[in-house]
Amino acid sequence: MRVAVLSDIHSNLHALDAALKAVGPVDRLWVLGDIVGYGPHPNEVVERLATAGAIAVQGNHDAAVLGRIPTDTFNDLAREAVEWTAGTVTTSTRGWLAGLPEKRSEGAFTLTHGSPRDPLWEYLISSSAAGLNMAAFETTHCLVGHTHYPLTFRMDAGRVDILNAPDGGHLDLDERRCILNPGSVGQPRDGDPRACVMLLDTAAGKAEWHRVEYPVERTQQAIRKLPLPGALADRLEMGR
Ligand code: ZN
Repeated sequence: MRVAVLSDIHSNLHALDAALKAVGPVDRLWVLGDIVGYGPHPNEVVERLATAGAIAVQGNHDAAVLGRIPTDTFNDLAREAVEWTAGTVTTSTRGWLAGLPEKRSEGAFTLTHGSPRDPLWEYLISSSAAGLNMAAFETTHCLVGHTHYPLTFRMDAGRVDILNAPDGGHLDLDERRCILNPGSVGQPRDGDPRACVMLLDTAAGKAEWHRVEYPVERTQQAIRKLPLPGALADRLEMGR
């Protein structure tokens, strides 16, 4: 089965469309949360995903837009965007997001946003934190987002290695437990503004990372026309 794995789309429709076009036909679309927040197109993004039959989980921004978690732990930019988004989403967008779990398993993979032990909040950026999470999922592998940084943590003989995931890079999956992050579609933060997407071939046991150009300026223009902080537009072209 060919699966496109997307995370942290953050209401960036132009990035999502470019990513979907780049991967071509797939059997499944798995989405690791933070579908909305920051960007200008929450309803359009959710409609695309719902139409495509995406299998998704909630991220912290999605939960905040739904009023499930307080926004006082968010920074000012994130909070302003959550508040605008909460006032903009339609009943059907809200209903679709509300129907998503925080964690789910699909075959050999657990899908979650932050980490398997703390789905909404934990950022997996260190091998020590990843190591503590290796016992927190029952499947062989786990897919996470949240950091907006493409990489893999792999358990090997009791040690956790961090493997980089450059554009065009791939990883052969075996019995060694991995936590894989596709990076962010709609707001990459690794200095590369191109959208991130991961392709999984579940039969062959192969994960591939790709970067996709999209019209960043169109998303920036849309943000600047709305009562959203201009910094959210500026950061997109810097990839941070
Ligand atoms: Zn995010």
